[in-house]
Amino acid sequence: MAEPAAGNTPSGKVVIRNIGLLLSGDIDQPILDADTIVVNDGKIVAFGKEKDCDTEGAKTVIDARRTCVAPGLIDSHVHPVFGDWTPRQGQLGWIDSTMNGGVTTMISAGEVHLPGRPKDIVGLKALAITAQRAFDNFRPGGVKVLAGAPVIEKGMVESDFKELAEAGVGLLGEVGLGSVKAGYEAKEMVAWARKYGIQSTIHTGGPSIPGSGLIDKDVVLEADADVIGHINGGHTSLPVAHVCELCEKSSRAIEIVHNGNEKVAIEAARAALDLKCPHRIILGTDGPAGSGVQPLGILRMVAMLSSIAGIPAELAFCFATGNTARIRNLNCGLIEVGRAADFVFMDRAQHTAGKTLLESVELGDIPGIGMVMIDGIVRCGRSRNTPPATEVPVVAGSAH
Ligand SMILES: [Zn+2]
Repeated sequence: MAEPAAGNTPSGKVVIRNIGLLLSGDIDQPILDADTIVVNDGKIVAFGKEKDCDTEGAKTVIDARRTCVAPGLIDSHVHPVFGDWTPRQGQLGWIDSTMNGGVTTMISAGEVHLPGRPKDIVGLKALAITAQRAFDNFRPGGVKVLAGAPVIEKGMVESDFKELAEAGVGLLGEVGLGSVKAGYEAKEMVAWARKYGIQSTIHTGGPSIPGSGLIDKDVVLEADADVIGHINGGHTSLPVAHVCELCEKSSRAIEIVHNGNEKVAIEAARAALDLKCPHRIILGTDGPAGSGVQPLGILRMVAMLSSIAGIPAELAFCFATGNTARIRNLNCGLIEVGRAADFVFMDRAQHTAGKTLLESVELGDIPGIGMVMIDGIVRCGRSRNTPPATEVPVVAGSAH
């Protein structure tokens, strides 16, 4: 997990009190009986009932005003390029805008939209290393963008993966977007990547844009990447029966994305629940893409899965927080001592039919965000993108 980038002033001691609902991110215990979180220098140091926490001497006190606090959302599948710019739809500020949608960590599935992207082996390695460094040094809106995800090409050998890993690259871009499309070839390279600690994701389903190709269930199973990327297609899905077969025959992460087939998203989530492996479900947007940029994409996925697939909202939030953190070995996504103090503060949107935040999500409404915190530092107050939250937290005091 990336540490705070250079120039990021430590948060000092932060106390978040008067929490109405604390979501843990842990699918085995999604709701915590706690109203207070104590943070020091960007990490959670305690949580529980206020009377049991050492709240003295805080530099910053947040009164959550009985709203819901959850771990910051993780987008498991994005395609950044450089800075807070995407050439895909010619937009600036998309990462900061996504932070206003509660996302505090993004994971690159390849910097595939870079104009003139190199496809030779030296060039693709250089790009991956440069992207990893650039996003480690520059965090738009404070968002942790884990980038530098090379798209593998024919001709790569084991030493290329060793070299990438030693240079700090920890992810592969979507397998199948480059010239490696056959199962046996992908399998060999995925295994080399895994040997050196590089996590892999495979493109699943029909071609995303002209020039890319179909990756069918047999290739996905043979390649055995760590994440079955956009199992519901990006955009075009495999047949439902094949998606269910992937859930059953593979034990890898089941990634469901916004920019995929929504009907199959529901089917994939249900299949995972039927197989008693809800911990494998993780969420992404697969943006920017032809469908645009979705600052609220992860919240929309949570609301869609909860409302249409009938999944309790507190579980659906785990798909976008703790599940992803555990599968991707991130030090965020869960309310646990020692984890990053990355939080989203939410309340039921004004005038939703839901009487509570969780009920509103189960009815298909997205929450209103009242604050986002990353590494214990407030990054935004009332979101400029969500519908307005009924109640929002306030900074109740700060000592010096
Ligand atoms: Zn894809």
